[in-house]
Amino acid sequence: MDLYEYQGKQLFGQFGIPVSEGRLATTPEEARAAAEELGGQVVVKAQVLTGGRGKAGGVKLADDAGDAEAKAREILGLDIRGHVVEKVWIERASEIAKEYYLSVTFDRGAKRPLFMFTTQGGVEIEEVAANSPDALVRLHIDPLEGYQPWVARRLVYGAGVEDPGEQKQIAAIVEQLYRCFVESDAMLCEINPLIVTPLGEVKALDSKFTVDDSALYRHPDIAAFRDTSAADPLEAFAREKGVTYVKLDGSVGILGNGAGLSMSTVDVVVTAGGKPANFCDLGGGGDAEGVVDALEVIARDPQVRSIFFNIFGGITRGDEVARGILEALDRIEIKVPIVVRLDGTNAEQGLAILREAAPPNLHVAPTMLDAARTAVELAA
Ligand code: GDP
Ligand code: MN
Repeated sequence: MDLYEYQGKQLFGQFGIPVSEGRLATTPEEARAAAEELGGQVVVKAQVLTGGRGKAGGVKLADDAGDAEAKAREILGLDIRGHVVEKVWIERASEIAKEYYLSVTFDRGAKRPLFMFTTQGGVEIEEVAANSPDALVRLHIDPLEGYQPWVARRLVYGAGVEDPGEQKQIAAIVEQLYRCFVESDAMLCEINPLIVTPLGEVKALDSKFTVDDSALYRHPDIAAFRDTSAADPLEAFAREKGVTYVKLDGSVGILGNGAGLSMSTVDVVVTAGGKPANFCDLGGGGDAEGVVDALEVIARDPQVRSIFFNIFGGITRGDEVARGILEALDRIEIKVPIVVRLDGTNAEQGLAILREAAPPNLHVAPTMLDAARTAVELAA
């Protein structure tokens, strides 16, 4: 999960990394109010999940609140490489004497976190790596040793930072950034530029922050950063439930286990003359809880007129899926008919369980094509 600059900076701040004070705004009027509160010169920055905003006209200095409103009006709605700006971050403007670059990322090849530091910041790091590779200091961290003071010294001396005040501040930031990276389960924490002000103060002027999706469950505060307002409410609900779900515009709800089977199910429904209402992949597990969650998501779509439940048991067991379907019917009200095709591991037991319970509105089909035809007919 990629964070917006202002979210990354919020986390930086929590770990003690110096950042400028700022406010978020979604309208020019809010931008004016934010600039008034902050006072003096501010910078208005597009909040989009892509880099190079400066060059694209998404970062602008403003002299006062009125100017901030005007700059926000220019930036809001701007399309930056396919990302439309809906929010701007207004922060107190900094004076810049030098622009450095500092990042820590996860190097899969080396199986270790990798620090990169250079005094040639402000431009894309790929450019520095290509044009002046000697200026870029790279240093792997042994995750068992963790941060050690020599790490920062090696980075700072290696890049040729001579001012003792800068050295000291950067060393502190390196240590804080490493803690931030590890404790947030990040994949990337990048500060570009890390600036030095004319008074010799070092701080993070930008943030690029990626968190491992698989670790979000233990960071509810970071997971809450996710932008659900713009997304489809049904897809947001599915994400909450951990269900892979893509909304389509037909009337046959589709549930398969595994992306391949789910896609084939979409195809066979089209072959049978129907239109899929969604694409939903139960994944490899397919335990009862997963089935209940997936059916709950599909049943919430008002366009769904029938549900085609297509399972090929491998690791997934047919009997468990059957119990999941019955449990779902017990727990939630599903008004539309469900057509089930079960094959593979424990399919016979699964079908027996369904036949015995024989809930109304549940149809069992022998093959995928039969099931598709029935589901399409029932959706008509
Ligand atoms: P990016 O282009 O998406 O990487 O956005 P940045 O946040 O890195 O900003 C781009 C550039 O705008 C920076 O490299 C700075 O040169 C400039 N900039 C950003 N904030 C300030 C500020 O507070 N004062 C000044 N003078 N320049 C700024
Ligand atoms: Mn930047």
